[in-house]
Amino acid sequence: MSLQNLSDSRLLADTKMWNEKEDYCTRQFLRHINEVNRRRLFCDDKTSSLFKYIRKNFNKSDSETSRRILAAKTLRHVPCADKALANKQVTLTNLAEVSGVVANIKSRKKKNEILESIKGRTQIQARELVDQLTGKTRATRPQTREHSDGSLRIHLSLVGESARDYQFVKEQLSNKGLYKSEDIIAHFISMTAESMRKKIAGIGSRKSKVITNSRTISAAIKKAVMTRSVNKCENCGSRYNLHFDHIIPHSISKSSAITNVRQLCSNCNSRAAIKLLTQQKMDLYINKS
Ligand SMILES: [Zn+2]
Repeated sequence: MSLQNLSDSRLLADTKMWNEKEDYCTRQFLRHINEVNRRRLFCDDKTSSLFKYIRKNFNKSDSETSRRILAAKTLRHVPCADKALANKQVTLTNLAEVSGVVANIKSRKKKNEILESIKGRTQIQARELVDQLTGKTRATRPQTREHSDGSLRIHLSLVGESARDYQFVKEQLSNKGLYKSEDIIAHFISMTAESMRKKIAGIGSRKSKVITNSRTISAAIKKAVMTRSVNKCENCGSRYNLHFDHIIPHSISKSSAITNVRQLCSNCNSRAAIKLLTQQKMDLYINKS
């Protein structure tokens, strides 16, 4: 039926109904992604994180995805937030704002108090509350626009320590002939990118070496596995938090041969353990909240 043929009252009633359905679907979506995360199911899709899984499969933007993941995290830590969301006392954005704070607080009472204090508040007010609780002042979120030539236009503001550090570095770099803000920021970025690339390639830092929790795997086997895997997770391709993993547990197979050893990132490692040892057992280690 064409909407043009609906009466005014029916059109308004239907608009309200669809809005309610949309809110309901969003809440269900948050509950579902929490469960997907608990089971680390995104690893079965060969994606290294829930974020990448949602981006890949659900046609959502970066900000839509991160807002949902953070709001879902708040629901995990403060279960009654679901009811507050259903009653329109809190917004998805506000739940996302407080996710980091509620995740780091143990007291259930305190978590509920934080939820109470963001009810009916704007995003800026929720953000100010988080700043008060953490004792940090954050700058407003930068707005980034990508141009067709590959360049980026970023509007950002620096506050507090970041602003002071920026001024300090600016003074130092002006001696090297760097005066313009974009030159200074480009300088920071290239330095950080260089150090990150080295870290990923395993050069320089001892900490950047692959994590290994198994003394039963010889150095030669580890080296051979790393050559085979090109130092990436052999399931999803991630380069972060890599572990050596026995495909069939060493306690059963007694084998650390190259055919029984693989490199997995921590999420894929958790997923493999869930499949092998049950979700219930692994929740004690990986999904504590
Ligand atoms: Zn992985």
